[in-house]
Amino acid sequence: MAKNIQAIRGMNDYLPAETALWQRIEDSLKKVLRSYGYSEIRLPIVEQTPLFKRAIGEVTDVVEKEMYTFDDRNGDSLSLRPEGTAGCVRAGIEHGILYNQEQRLWYMGPMFRHERPQKGRYRQFHQLGCEVFGLQGPDIDAELILLSARWWRELGIAEHVALELNSIGSLEARARYRDALIAFLEQHKDQLDEDCLRRMYTNPLRVLDSKNAQVQALLNDAPVLTDYLDDESRQHFEQLGELLTQAGIPFTVNPRLVRGLDYYNRTVFEWVTTSLGSQGTVCAGGRYDGMVEQLGGHATPAVGFAMGLERLVLLVQSVNPDFTALPGVEVYLISSGVGTQSAAMQLAETLRDALPELKLMTNYGGGNFKKQFARADKWGARIALVLGENEVASGQVVVKNLSSGEQVTYSMSVLLHSLACKKGV
Ligand code: ATP
Ligand code: MG
Repeated sequence: MAKNIQAIRGMNDYLPAETALWQRIEDSLKKVLRSYGYSEIRLPIVEQTPLFKRAIGEVTDVVEKEMYTFDDRNGDSLSLRPEGTAGCVRAGIEHGILYNQEQRLWYMGPMFRHERPQKGRYRQFHQLGCEVFGLQGPDIDAELILLSARWWRELGIAEHVALELNSIGSLEARARYRDALIAFLEQHKDQLDEDCLRRMYTNPLRVLDSKNAQVQALLNDAPVLTDYLDDESRQHFEQLGELLTQAGIPFTVNPRLVRGLDYYNRTVFEWVTTSLGSQGTVCAGGRYDGMVEQLGGHATPAVGFAMGLERLVLLVQSVNPDFTALPGVEVYLISSGVGTQSAAMQLAETLRDALPELKLMTNYGGGNFKKQFARADKWGARIALVLGENEVASGQVVVKNLSSGEQVTYSMSVLLHSLACKKGV
């Protein structure tokens, strides 16, 4: 027998049992975004490779070893997007919607990174990202954090995520800090691992978020980025902290939080959880005031974040199992006998006209009443509508409550009204 072809490692199928929960979560997320006046932008999954190199930085995990890059048939180097900000900025410049304007945008969709698959880490995963352009104050940074905090409350996970905050200052401040950090690391080369040694000169800040415990211990004595901040960044950060405190959002300042991508400046933040093992960052972002100009647009302040939807779904499942998918089917329409299938289809259409929100499924594939009732149970319906030859002849329908077993025969005309009332039961 031929060997089955399987999905690519780290790229998941999401079957109906899962997508129902995903949809419910996505609906909650979108509802909140709408309530803050954010608009959706839809972007291609493939971009020219140089876009990511320029936006994310050559010496980052993502660009160095995680991108899916290939030559297309014209010989152009293309990459599957590893994140959404670069494409969003590219599109914003290309369509002239950033210069001298304010934009509050969000997108949602698959991202691709060639990483080692494990719980909460996949090769195709999904992000919901928010990007705001044209606003430079700490107030908008605070709003993005308030918006995400509202998500956690809606999803019942607020007790299980914590906010970490840092400022990485201006480019110049970072350059001064970089020199101090390199000088420190040079004195302790023997305690650095291979990755850190390689990064020491190309991207020394990345040493700060090394996962190596020995390196982390060494860093307790390293110079602290906070001491090198420029005055404006320091002020921005203090104001952000005040706004969050006044809004009742607790946070921890984590001076080692620098984020994996090069493009950030000033505010960086992460929402982390201890409930998912080592893949603990659910949502991460910050300010990236230099990127629009770096990609060829007019200088435009920008701030945003991206949330990993797989991690969010895992978290909701583990800490708030009450947040389940809404029932797929409320009413199951059963029919048996000559001419009843056609009557059932017509009844179903009439009901959908009258009650567009009703989740109604019609039995197909025949079967006796017993079999059809079993299917109604399998789909989780609470009410069965039953049409036999007698009912069709007399213009009636039997309505059966599947949990109590109670059943009543209605004329078709009374049915609509009755169903409208029962829906709320
Ligand atoms: P990590 O340190 O976990 O690798 P990152 O810094 O690479 O995260 P970002 O690029 O900031 O992550 O992406 C934002 C969010 O997207 C992460 O906080 C996480 O929730 C999610 N994410 C990133 N990479 C993956 C992945 N490979 N699989 C699933 N989710 C991911
Ligand atoms: Mg990563």
